[in-house]
Amino acid sequence: MTEVNTTPPMIRMVEVDKYFGQLHVLKNITLEVPRGQVVVVLGPSGSGKSTLCRAINRLEPINSGLIEIDGRPLPAEGKELANLRADVGMVFQSFNLFAHKTIVDNVMLAPLKVRKTPKADARRTAMELLERVGIANQAEKYPAQLSGGQQQRAAIARALAMRPKVMLFDEPTSALDPEMINEVLDVMSTLAAEGMTMLVVTHEMGFARNAANRVLFMSDGDIVEDATPNEFFTAPKSARAKDFLSKIL
Ligand code: ADP
Ligand code: MG
Repeated sequence: MTEVNTTPPMIRMVEVDKYFGQLHVLKNITLEVPRGQVVVVLGPSGSGKSTLCRAINRLEPINSGLIEIDGRPLPAEGKELANLRADVGMVFQSFNLFAHKTIVDNVMLAPLKVRKTPKADARRTAMELLERVGIANQAEKYPAQLSGGQQQRAAIARALAMRPKVMLFDEPTSALDPEMINEVLDVMSTLAAEGMTMLVVTHEMGFARNAANRVLFMSDGDIVEDATPNEFFTAPKSARAKDFLSKIL
C-alpha cells in the first residue's frame, strides 16, 4: 500500500480578512505553518501582528477566510471552540495571571476547568511544568511576589498545561526589565528546540536569528516578507522591511 503524507499544516490561514470598522487590519492573509516550525513575526506597531495572533485562536473574529489548526477549521463558538482553543496556547505581553491565586493554582486552573483533569494529576503536571520553566520553588507564591520574568515563565507554564499543539507569543518580553528578558527567551528557545510549533511576535532580533526557522514581516495588514532569518536580516527585499531594520538594528 502506498502511504500518502496527509499531515496538515499546524496553522493554516486562507484569504483571511479582518476589519475594525473601516480599518482593514488583516488583508487577505494566506499562511501555512508546518508542524514544529518556529515563526517570528516582525513589523512596525499597528501592522496587525497582535490581531493575527488573536485571530488564530479566535480571541478576535475574522470577517472572511478560513483558519484551521492541525487540519480542523476553527468553530465559531461553543464547546468545540473551547476545545480547539485549548490546542492553541497564548502568552501575552502582560502576563495575565490571576492575582488572587498561587502560581501553581494558576497553572492548574484550565486543566481542572476545561479538561476536567483530576486535581492530583493537574497538580503533578503543573509542578513538572514549573520545574521546566525553572520556578518550581515559587509554586506557592502569589503573582505579585514574583519578578516579571518569573511571572512570564509562570504564564508559559500555564499555557503549556493544556498541552497545546501550537504556542502563540505576543511580545512576551516587551514588558520586562532588560535583565529578565533572557530567562524568558531561554524557556522559549528550549520549547522551540523540543519541536513545539510557535508563532512569536517579538522585537528580540537575537531570538529571531537564533531560534526562528522563518521570519514574517508585516506592514499595514499584509505579510510583505516571508523568508529565512538569514535571508531577512541580510537581504530584506521590501523598502518597508529595510526601513524597519535600519531603525532597530
Ligand atoms: P500590532 O500588534 O502590529 O501593533 P495590532 O494588531 O494591535 O497591531 O493593530 C492593528 C491595527 O488595528 C492598528 O491600527 C490598531 O489600532 C487597530 N486595532 C487593534 N485592535 C483594535 C480594536 N479592538 N478596535 C479597533 N482597532 C483596533
Ligand atoms: Mg501588538
